Amino acid sequence: MRTSYSALDTFRTCPLKYKYSQIDKLREPKRIETVFGTLVHSALKFMFVRNPLYPTLDEVIDFFTRAWAEKSEHIVWRSEAKKDAESALYLNEGIKILKNFYQKNQPWNFNVIEMEGRFSIEIADELSGKTHTLSGIIDRIDKDQDSEIYEIIDYKTGKKMPAEETLRENLQLGVYHMALSARWPSVSSGNIKTSLYFLKHNQKIGIVPNSETIALARKKILETIRDIEAREVTGNFPPTPSALCDWCGWRKMCPMWSHEYTAETAKTPDDAELAQAMKDFFELKLRENENKKLIAETREKILAYMNSKTLMRVFGSDGYVTQTKQERVSYDMEKIKPLLKKMGQWENILEPDEKKLTQLIGELSEPEQNELNQAREIKIVTTLKQTKTKKSST
Ligand code: SF4
Repeated sequence: MRTSYSALDTFRTCPLKYKYSQIDKLREPKRIETVFGTLVHSALKFMFVRNPLYPTLDEVIDFFTRAWAEKSEHIVWRSEAKKDAESALYLNEGIKILKNFYQKNQPWNFNVIEMEGRFSIEIADELSGKTHTLSGIIDRIDKDQDSEIYEIIDYKTGKKMPAEETLRENLQLGVYHMALSARWPSVSSGNIKTSLYFLKHNQKIGIVPNSETIALARKKILETIRDIEAREVTGNFPPTPSALCDWCGWRKMCPMWSHEYTAETAKTPDDAELAQAMKDFFELKLRENENKKLIAETREKILAYMNSKTLMRVFGSDGYVTQTKQERVSYDMEKIKPLLKKMGQWENILEPDEKKLTQLIGELSEPEQNELNQAREIKIVTTLKQTKTKKSST
């Protein structure tokens, strides 16, 4: 398969979005968030080009403002009535980002060696025997003159910033490291740093990926490609709503959101019936939640009585309630990870996946199983089952 990092990322975010863009080849209507991201990226690229001097902050802002005026005409607005206010909001947000960024990152202090450079890497899948080509674009690569460290930087315009400790499992950073290593094999792996710059926070977080990060990225890529290929056969690309739907240009045609856009004039009697059913549904669900709370409280009372009298079954006018206890086994992933690494088995799991872990443990030798069992936790789960008894007729 020939694919790109962004296509795989789209699939992982939402298979339906992937289908619209990669299979149906539809042109994505431009939402304001997408245009905003693209133009901030362009302004940051402009900022690091010396011609013959680096642009001043005013020139960067002017570049962004002019680009905004030109491109905002092509935006598909959420509401025509509010488009001017929304446009001004994003324009000001962009200017604020650029000002903060410029103050912290004066361009003459960095040795930027490439911006928006393309990459293409081959990844062989030993399971299918296929070799896939993965391409992408890297926002920026810097090289520190003293330490010889290459730093790949990806700009993010979204609000959400991941915790630094999760970066080792970040697919994008793993892929970027693979891309740079493939392009410049003479650069030592430990000399490649990968970073994400969160522009709204004006903060950069990064790691030097290790062999585990790269193996995990490779594994995720191959799993994603296999999943796409399987879905191409079944045609099953379900919509997967998330906060990222705000960035999606297909909201108006997506079955998860299209109903929200039904015009008042297009409504039929079915819609009136639906409106009532929706109202009823919400009320019934509210009562269901209240009942759940009452059931939990009643359960605790019955259980407390049973425990105080060491009873496993109690009887009432409608029937009886039986208590059962079951053992549930789970593993402490923090404890088990170093043990598996020591045994050279972590590469077979790579993620805290209880199912795979249980399967793997079954295949290990007895001493290894015994060692891993130290990280085993057994929980006792108590359940109460009610049985209704037939009323005898008089
Ligand atoms: S709007 Fe959300 S659920 Fe629908 S296609 Fe786009 S990302 Fe997927």
